[in-house]
This record gives sequence, structure tokens and C-alpha cells, in this order.
Amino acid sequence: MGGFRTPGYSIVPLYSWVILALIATGCISGSGDVSKAGVAISFDDHFIEDWYALKPLFDRYDAKVTFFITCPDSLTTREIRLLKELESDGHEIGFHGTIHGRATEMIAAHGPEGYIETELTPGLGYMRAAGFYPTSYAHPGGNHNSRVDSVLLAQGFQILRDVALSRREYKGVPLYQMAPRIMPWIYYSFDQAPIVDALSIDMDARVDIDSIKEAMEKAKNTGTALMLFGHQPLQGKAKQGQYGFDIGLLEGILKEAKIGNLKFYRMSDLVKN
Ligand SMILES: [Zn+2]
Repeated sequence: MGGFRTPGYSIVPLYSWVILALIATGCISGSGDVSKAGVAISFDDHFIEDWYALKPLFDRYDAKVTFFITCPDSLTTREIRLLKELESDGHEIGFHGTIHGRATEMIAAHGPEGYIETELTPGLGYMRAAGFYPTSYAHPGGNHNSRVDSVLLAQGFQILRDVALSRREYKGVPLYQMAPRIMPWIYYSFDQAPIVDALSIDMDARVDIDSIKEAMEKAKNTGTALMLFGHQPLQGKAKQGQYGFDIGLLEGILKEAKIGNLKFYRMSDLVKN
């Protein structure tokens, strides 16, 4: 922005004004409707008691989120009641597979019918019997391809959520680390795209509140929705075999969203806005 220091009618400020005008009229992509800016948070698997315990936290920040349920055959009467209560609070109940299998391998080995019969139909039956009619799907293990996606969309799911990691390592050696603000695929631009990626906030992803604050700032400035997800809510460090996120980090995110006036989107809301 040093160009603004140039006095007189230099071409530099003139050029800047043209860019500003283009941004104002929405001619430059990425400058969406800033009033839509928000955050879409989802949670995967089957940590229903632990998620329910977050209810006061969601209420405090008026946050609406999505819970993706896997293995719904094992839903207890109590778990169904807790999920119903979360749903009536305005949260979304999505689907995350019957057996949490590897979709690409199932579809390669058994075709679309085999995949549907194993991973989709039984679980959706249990969900419906419990009174849930999911319209969003999270890929178990983030495993999918275009063949899997087309089956899920044909089954009526409106949005399919994959996994994005800001950091990956192999045998303890970091392969890459990226700041969430430079990962365009974790921002929903309200273009009705049904296949999306959400950034993991689980402990092993090692995202901190500062990098998420930067990402939220980007969502705010570009009129997009930052998509985040995690598994089990944890206090402090994860114990052996636990896979989840720090509740303190989630609270920081909710607080920041509230301060920044960001909207809370459930996953199915994204394609409707
Ligand atoms: Zn999962």
C-alpha cells in the first residue's frame, strides 16, 4: 500500500482506486457478501455424552453446530434423547456411515450397490427409526472419490464433508505445515458446492487459537464460512487412545466468532445460503 504515499495524480493511486471499485462491485472473486461471513463447526463419530456436555458452552455463545453420527445401530435410548435435545436446540444431526469403512475400497470391491447396502442403508434405517433424517454426510476417515460422492449425492445428501489437515507427518517427521489462512478449500464461498473440506482442530493437528483467529478474520473479510471439525471434546491432554480437541480451543473459537459477529452455520445451511 506504499503507493498511496505518491503525491499528485500518479498512476499508482488511480490504479488502487480501480481495484477498490472492482472489489466494491464484487467483480473480483473472493469478495463475497461480508454479511454472510461465518463459521461452520462439526463433530464426528459417536461421542454423544461428551458432545452433550458442551451444551452450556454452545448456549453461551448461541452457537449452532453439526454432529455427524457413525454406527447408529448402537445408539442407546438415552443417546437418542440427548441428540434429540441437541437437535431441538438448533444443531444439525448428520450421518457418518454405518460401519465407518473405507468407501473407495468398498465401492471398488462391491460396486455402488454393495457400498450402499453396507455403509448407507442400515445406518440410515437406524437413524430414521430414531427420528433423524440427515441431509449432510461426513466421509469416514476422509476417504472418498468422485464415484463415492456421486452415490452419496444420488442418495439425497446435500453436502459432503471431507477432512483438511494443516499439518501432516510421517513416522514423526513433519511433511508439511500450512497456516489455515492460506488454505482456500476450508472456506465456503456460498457457491452451492456440495463437496467441502473442513479443517481438523483435533490435538494432533496442532492448530492454535491465533492461526484460527487469522482464518476467521479472512472469512470475515471475504464473506465466506470457515469450516472446522473435531472428534472427542477433551480437557487438557489426550490420553492413550483418545482422539479429539481441547475444549479450551473450541471455547476460544466460539468466543472469537461472537466478538467478530460471525454467523454460525450448520453444514446443510451452507448450500442453502
Ligand atoms: Zn469418523
